[in-house]
Amino acid sequence: ATPMALITGTGAASRKGLIIRNAEAIQTARDVSVVVLDKTGTITEGSPSVVGTDLSADDLAAAASVEAFSNHPLAKAIASASDERRPVSDVEEITGEGVRGTVDGVEYFVGKPGDPARYDEHLSMGRTVVEVRRAGVLAGFLAVEDPLREDAVEGVKRLSGMGITCVMATGDNEKTARAVAARVGIGEVHAGVRPDGKLDLVRQLQARGGKVLMTGDGMNDAAALKGADIGVAVGSGTDLAIDSADIVIVRGGISRLADAVAISRKTFTVIR
Ligand code: ADP
Ligand code: MG
Repeated sequence: ATPMALITGTGAASRKGLIIRNAEAIQTARDVSVVVLDKTGTITEGSPSVVGTDLSADDLAAAASVEAFSNHPLAKAIASASDERRPVSDVEEITGEGVRGTVDGVEYFVGKPGDPARYDEHLSMGRTVVEVRRAGVLAGFLAVEDPLREDAVEGVKRLSGMGITCVMATGDNEKTARAVAARVGIGEVHAGVRPDGKLDLVRQLQARGGKVLMTGDGMNDAAALKGADIGVAVGSGTDLAIDSADIVIVRGGISRLADAVAISRKTFTVIR
């Protein structure tokens, strides 16, 4: 591409609320055939809140105290579900699983349920369930709800209308993932994806041919953002995600991806 076209494309993108960190990306965007969307923080707002629990006040206080040490969006929701704080020692975050910590000499685990099937009712509503285990024994659950981003439905619709396949990738469970995907009109769902699994998924999709754009906000997304043909970080995301991205969405969400592709197709149309 001519430098002038890159400047034009980059300028048009910035007016739409996109920061182009790598000028080539705005040229590559016209050839995107698959968009991979992280669920939490990309399709949803990433600011969940606790909407149900069967924990005792004591166990809730312990769980909130342990989660206060984690930066995960779910952890923030759970930490603010109780005002009480207990002294916690031996905190250990298990990426993609949950957090462990010792409270009053008792080990607590707050994270993925052992048997998600028992929470079907919550999961089919698109909620995430977090389990609390006290000394290895189930103490109860927390149901967490994360609202969809305002432009998620419109964004997926626009991308689909441009002939682009939208794919969801999430570490969350299959049932929750499917419920959220159905709401925004995504048919292809990869759930229970381990942190390094997102990069594997990007490679698999690249093997189908065509360029793959990946969007995410979390530390877990960094490798996949780098491995994709275009990595797009959501502006509210972690520093690591932003540093790994070619494009950063400053205002808005998924709809900005459709803007990027539209700008690219317009600016870099090959005139024969
Ligand atoms: P996503 O890809 O949707 O951003 P993650 O890979 O970060 O999700 O996490 C996957 C799953 O691991 C979460 O849905 C949750 O069940 C569990 N999990 C991870 N971190 C925590 C935490 N700090 N507290 C509770 N659960 C957690
Ligand atoms: Mg995320």
